[in-house]
Parts: sequence; C-alpha cells; structure tokens
Amino acid sequence: MIPEMELLQRRLERERTARKEAEAILEQKALELYYSNTALRQLNDGLEVEVQARTRALSTEQSRLESLIENLDSGVLLEDENRKIVIVNDLFCKLFGIPLAPELLKGADCSQSAEQSKHLFADPDGFTARIIELLSKREICLDEILHLADGSVFFRSFIPVFSDAKYMGHLWKYTDVTVTHHAQVDLKHSEEKYRGLIENMELGLMEVSKSGIILRAYPRFCVMVGYQEAELIGQSAVDLFLVPEFSPVFEAQERERATGKASVYEVQIYKKSGEKIWVLISGAPIFDSDDQVIGSLGIHYDITPQKELQKELEEAKRNAEAAQEAEKQFLANMSHEIRTPLNAIIGMSHLLYDTQPNPEQQEYLDILRNSAEMLRALITDILDLSKIRSGHLEVQKKEFDLVGSVRTMVKSAQLRLEDRPVKVVANIDPHFKHLVLGDDLLVHQILSNLLGNAEKFTEKGQISVSLSLVPPNATGQSMYEIRVSDSGIGIPQDKQEIIFKTFRQVDGDIKRKFGGTGLGLAITRQIIEIQGGTIHLESELGKGSTFIVQLPYLDSGKAIVDATKTEQIFRPLGSKGKRLLVVEDNHMNRKYIGTLLRKWGIHHTFAHNGREGWQLSMQEPFDLILMDIQMPEMDGYEATIAIRESVNLNKDTPIIALTASALLS
Ligand code: ADP
Repeated sequence: MIPEMELLQRRLERERTARKEAEAILEQKALELYYSNTALRQLNDGLEVEVQARTRALSTEQSRLESLIENLDSGVLLEDENRKIVIVNDLFCKLFGIPLAPELLKGADCSQSAEQSKHLFADPDGFTARIIELLSKREICLDEILHLADGSVFFRSFIPVFSDAKYMGHLWKYTDVTVTHHAQVDLKHSEEKYRGLIENMELGLMEVSKSGIILRAYPRFCVMVGYQEAELIGQSAVDLFLVPEFSPVFEAQERERATGKASVYEVQIYKKSGEKIWVLISGAPIFDSDDQVIGSLGIHYDITPQKELQKELEEAKRNAEAAQEAEKQFLANMSHEIRTPLNAIIGMSHLLYDTQPNPEQQEYLDILRNSAEMLRALITDILDLSKIRSGHLEVQKKEFDLVGSVRTMVKSAQLRLEDRPVKVVANIDPHFKHLVLGDDLLVHQILSNLLGNAEKFTEKGQISVSLSLVPPNATGQSMYEIRVSDSGIGIPQDKQEIIFKTFRQVDGDIKRKFGGTGLGLAITRQIIEIQGGTIHLESELGKGSTFIVQLPYLDSGKAIVDATKTEQIFRPLGSKGKRLLVVEDNHMNRKYIGTLLRKWGIHHTFAHNGREGWQLSMQEPFDLILMDIQMPEMDGYEATIAIRESVNLNKDTPIIALTASALLS
C-alpha cells in the first residue's frame, strides 16, 4: 500500500475510533442527562406537593387564629407596621360602634381611628395622647383602665409585634370589665365603709396566726395599746398583752378558736406603757379556702371606763346596802324602843280605868289613851311605809284560809260596832272551799284598814265585805275580789284618787272630826300592788263607798279545815290550875302583863331574859310560854331553840312570840 493511503487509512481509522469514543461519551452524557432530568423532575414534583401542604397548613393556621381572635371575649385589632389593619374581630367593632363587618376592614388605615372614637371616652384627649405614646414607645402594656363616657370601664392592652428585632406592627386588646370593675369598686367601698365604721366605733382589730403571732394590727388597736403596728407584727400576742391572772381565760378561748368557734369575753391586757386596760374581746376564727382554722381575728373594745364605773357602782351599792342595813337596824331598834313604852302607856291607861277614877280623871284618861293610841297608829303606819319603800316587805306564799280571815275580820267589826246602828255583814261565795296561796298577814292588814275606815266614816246603815272570784282575764289569771262597802259619808269624785297618796285626806274637817294620818290607804294600795293586785274605789258623796280589791291568789287545791283546833290551845288557859311562863325583860311590860293576868286569874311566872326562861322551863311544866324576842343574855329565838332541842319538860309547850319590832310582821 501506498504510504499516503496507509497514512490516510490510519488517519481515518483514528478518526473513526475518536468518533466512536466521542459517540460513546455523548451517549454516556445523554444518559446522565436523562437520569438527572428525571431526578430533577421528581424533585420538582416533591417540592410542589410540599409547597401545597405547607400552604394548606398555613391557611388552616390562619383561619384557626382568625376564629380564635373572632371568639375572644375581648375586642382585638392587629395592625401592621404601617398601621394597616391585619385582623380585627367583631367584638372590637361592637365596642367601638363600627358598623362594618370585620373582614371589610382588612387593610384599612388606622392612623385616624383614635381621633374618630375618642368621643366614647371620659377623657377623650387623654385617650388619644396615650395611644400616641404607646405607639411611639412600642412597649408592651397590659390591662390599662379606661373609663368611658357612658360609665363603662374597659381594660386595654397594647402588644407590639417584632420579628427578628424588626417591628412588624402591634395588637390592641380591649375588654369590657364594667360589671366586675363596679363589683370590685363596690366591694372596696363596702370594705372601706366597714373598716371605717369599725375604726370609728373605737373597735381595735388584730389578727393573729394559729400560734398566736400577730399578723396584722389595725390603727385603732394600735392606739388602744400604745404600740406602732410594726412593733407588733411577728410578736406573740400573749407575751405582749397577757395579764397573768387571765391566762386561764385566754387558754380557754384559744381552745374555742381552734374548734372554729367565735365568742366574746372580758379580760385585762397590758398597754405598752405597762398600764392595764379592760377590754371586751370578740374573737372569731379565720379559715383558709379548705375551711381549716389558720388564725383568729380579735375585735377589742376598751371597757376600762365602764369597769371603773361598775367598780364605783358596786362600791356605792355596798355602801348603800350597808347604810340600808344600818337604817333597817335603826328602824327595828327605834320601833322597839318607841313601841315598848307606848304599849306600856296604853296598857297602864287601860289598867287605870279599873281604879275607879273620878269623872275628871276619867276624862284625862280618855285623852291619854286616845292620844297614845293615835301615836301608836301613826308610828305603825310610818314604819310600815318605810318598810315597803326600803323593799323590806316580803310577800309570803303560803296556804291560808281566806274565807276564815274575812269572817274573823267581819266578826271583830261586828263586836266593835255593837253599840252603833251599823250592821256588818259578810257575803262570801259559797263555792270557796279551798285554801288559797298567798300572804294572810297582808290580807289582814288590807282588810283591817278598809274596815277601819268604813267603821270610822259610817254613822248608820251597813258595812259589807264580799268575797268572789273574777274569771280569768287576758293573762289567764283568776282574781280573788274583796269588796268593802259602806253606807257612810262617801268620797267626792275629785278626791277619789288623792286619798291613795300619803298624808292625804278628803279635807281638813276629816282630820278634826275623825283623826287619822292619811297613810292607811297609801299603805294598803302599796301592799296590794306588791302582791300583783289592784284597788279601785266607787263612791258617791253622802251615799257610801265601795273599795274593790283584786288579788291574784292561787287555789291550793286543799280543802279548808276547821279552825277550832288552834283555839283549843287557848281555851283551857282560863281554867284554874293552868300555868303560864312569861319571858319578858321590860319592867313596864312585865307589870302590865302581870296585872292583866292577875285580873284574869291566870297563874303565871316571869323570867327576866331568855336564859332565865330556859332555866325555868327545865324546872316546871307550863301550859303556854309568852316569849319576848329582843332580850339581853339570850334572845327569844335562842331560848325557844334551847327549849325545843333539849330534854325539857316544856319541849312541846306552845310558845307565842311577843315583839315590838318593825321588821317582823
Ligand atoms: P286615815 O283614815 O288615817 O286618814 P286613809 O289613807 O286610810 O287615812 O284615808 C284617807 C282619807 O280617805 C280619809 O282621811 C278619808 O278622808 C277618806 N276615806 C277613806 N276611806 C273612806 C270611807 N270608807 N268613807 C269615806 N271617806 C274615806
């Protein structure tokens, strides 16, 4: 082969080979391109799916956020950095009276909105100024109070939004708190009112823990005890205030408080100065939310002045009682001292009548006896009155025969009026069969006064005493009614009330004609009223008077017994051979009694005092002993006890007490 051919052939061969290689490379590259294209397409598809998923998620998130904002109970407005609305909710529109749907507001400019809605607020200029301030400071601000012109109250929050330190806008939140705010204000006011009240009422409040450590002391309490609140907090209340003698009281109170009980007690406490004051404490437990006692609250009232007054009053009362006791004693002594000689004068004047006085002497004797008897009546009345007034009159409640008492009194009046043309009668309801519960001596006194007056003021005609039962009144109490009627001079209408007053009579003539002190009816009325009864008068001048007494006696349910038994003691005395022991220290009384007994032919022995009486009672049996009460050496009570308690001949002999004392009825 020719060389050029060979050369050409080789060159061709090389080129063919090179082309084949290039083709192979190209094929290889095309394949690679294809694969990477496929991978790229796949990647692209994946990305698209992801973008779609993320977009979906984002819009779900946004609608969730929007619905959250929509349903908030606050009005919310989100603005971007250019003050364009990003989101706003319905409530916001309502609060600010914006008549548009929230979605229509998106993108709207807010730069003028403060100006537009400032009229809604109580301080419009303050409102806009504060918005400008908040926007410029870009600081978070929560729950600022805004007062609206219509009285509503809003809370406002401003929250700036930053993303990577870049300002993105801000959120406004407005909440209508009118109801809670007013409730809180009311609560605060009422709290202040009550605190003020308590402070003004001079009540000192202090709170202590369960272990007695002072947690709080209110101003009034601090003034009361002389400490500053800071000096008290953390201290033990007991250590500071306890007066040792009151520790049992405090301990008892602590126990009460631990069981959740409130109580009121009085104690003395120390002030800072060491001075003691009396306080009335109203202590109440304080509970936590689980109803556990965590401490107590004490309300203190300084009662020192009252305590001092009480002490003075007690002292005064003691003095008054002592004075009253002295007066009582004086009264008893005086009545004894006056009545004893007076009784002797009256007794002796009676005896003098038996000594055949001539007419002149008889006249003097009459005057003497009448004057002495008047004096005795006056003294008795005055003593009765002072006894009632000093509260010494005791009303007994014992069974007694009211019917018998009335009959006896009527019988005595009949005897006294035998020589006058006056008939005395008793009208007693035949249904009275029982003893009543009451005071027989007082009814005797009432009747003797009313009958005495009737006798005094009735020249002729009739005096009647009637006894009946008045049916129960509104209080359910039956009344025993005693009417004392007479056909005497009567009492003029205008005097019918005053005669019940002390020292009052119808007129001066009465005193001249009939004597009397004008005390009897006053005493009678008081005696009746003390027993819960009443007295009334019906009278016509010249025709007569009726005194109506009602007394609330109770029916004892026990039948009335025959009264003759008691009379048996006395009946045999008159017969010869019976002996009487008279124990009497007063010489004049002995003389008078002796003369009377001699006159009646009664055998008797005198003892000069209780001891002698007792000694005599051991030597000889007597049928009756008359015993004076006030005597030297041994008084009537002691002598009687000695006779009754010893082995004595006269252990069962009846003993009758004699006294002139005002304090024994
Ligand atoms: P005294 O009878 O001691 O004066 P009283 O208090 O018993 O005192 O009576 C006061 C007055 O009432 C009498 O003075 C008399 O004027 C009048 N009086 C009382 N009872 C009667 C009566 N039965 N008839 C008329 N007047 C009477």
